[in-house]
Amino acid sequence: MKLNNTQLQQVNEQIKRLLQTDSYYGKIYQEMGIEGINSQEDFEKLPFSSKEDLRNAYPLGIQAVPDKEVVRIHSSSGTTGKPVIIPYTAKDVEDWAVMFARCYETAGITNEDRIQITPGYGLWTAGIGFQAGCEKLGAMAIPMGPGNTDKQLQMMVDLKSTVITATSSYALLLAEEVNKRGLQDQICLKKGVIGSERWSEKMRNYIQKGLGIELYDIYGLTEIYGPGIGVNCQEEAGIHYWDDFIYIEIIDPKTGENVADGEEGEIVITTLVKEGAPLIRFRTHDISRIIPEKCSCGSHFPRIDIIKGRSDDMFKVHGVNMFPSQVEDLLQNVDGASSEYAVTIAHDDDKNRDIMIVTVEAEGRVDFEDTGKKIRELFKSRIGVTPKITIVPIGTLPRSEKKTKRVTDYRFSQE
Ligand code: ZN
Repeated sequence: MKLNNTQLQQVNEQIKRLLQTDSYYGKIYQEMGIEGINSQEDFEKLPFSSKEDLRNAYPLGIQAVPDKEVVRIHSSSGTTGKPVIIPYTAKDVEDWAVMFARCYETAGITNEDRIQITPGYGLWTAGIGFQAGCEKLGAMAIPMGPGNTDKQLQMMVDLKSTVITATSSYALLLAEEVNKRGLQDQICLKKGVIGSERWSEKMRNYIQKGLGIELYDIYGLTEIYGPGIGVNCQEEAGIHYWDDFIYIEIIDPKTGENVADGEEGEIVITTLVKEGAPLIRFRTHDISRIIPEKCSCGSHFPRIDIIKGRSDDMFKVHGVNMFPSQVEDLLQNVDGASSEYAVTIAHDDDKNRDIMIVTVEAEGRVDFEDTGKKIRELFKSRIGVTPKITIVPIGTLPRSEKKTKRVTDYRFSQE
């Protein structure tokens, strides 16, 4: 999807703003002699920005306004290295609330609703984002924050909360507790707005049924405001995003080139009106695609598909992009298969083709041959590749305390 004229002008404004500062990106642009853009082509030549940059700019090197204009900071912790600090101006905070309110509206939530907010407050962008959007919409915020499940359920019942906002794992916990305590008839929840971590269909169904709600996935990242830059609509066909605040392009994560609309790749986001910390061409490492068709809900906001995984985890066999998450989803549907598996990919030089071997653990009570067949069929129908499957008894594959390495690719190791 190309920049429209307004967006092109907005990007130029962002570049101008950066050039006038000695911020991290201001300096980079000055050194590169970038003064602005006149076309899509110019835009696509601009350097990417990354989480790595933001760590280098720690703590406030990215700030592109004078101190007196900054009203708040947020931070993303990240599992490795320094945290990232993002400064916000009053306008940034307001814009974010406007976007978030739009997410609620897209989910059919109104000022009559009572929104119970369970994500954390503080440095994290979650709780306060859900809250500001709720107040902007005019709904009643019930600002619980995380944990204290007894109190959560008491408030949910007594205050008749109609909307729950949560991470998927906390929503699951609440659904389990409601079920355990037999509270289904006492709660008034209609909808759930869930932070967009990756979660399985099984979990989704459980939460939906357990709490009797419709579910909405909210998209966002701390570097770009926070959650609230997009959400799915009632058609459940991808995520609408707010193209008056952000511009999204999809690139090939390996080459950095833009791919055609509809093709899968890495989401790259440019903020169009951000003041405190404008980001141009920020690489998210999230994999999705632009959905080129207009949504049947009638919204004019463009769509990306639901996030398929992280580019760092992607692997490619027979020209098909795959993610560990897809393998996990698939195995969940196989009776007796454990969640432990290993994928080995090699190249058969004689036949000049890739070979993929998937080793899966299964419980002793099931027939290994049948289970293997079932898994192969699922790979064929769902992913479009037919690997060799080996079934082994539970406990055979190595366990590790850290993130287990599940995919071993021998194709590139000898180059
Ligand atoms: Zn729609």
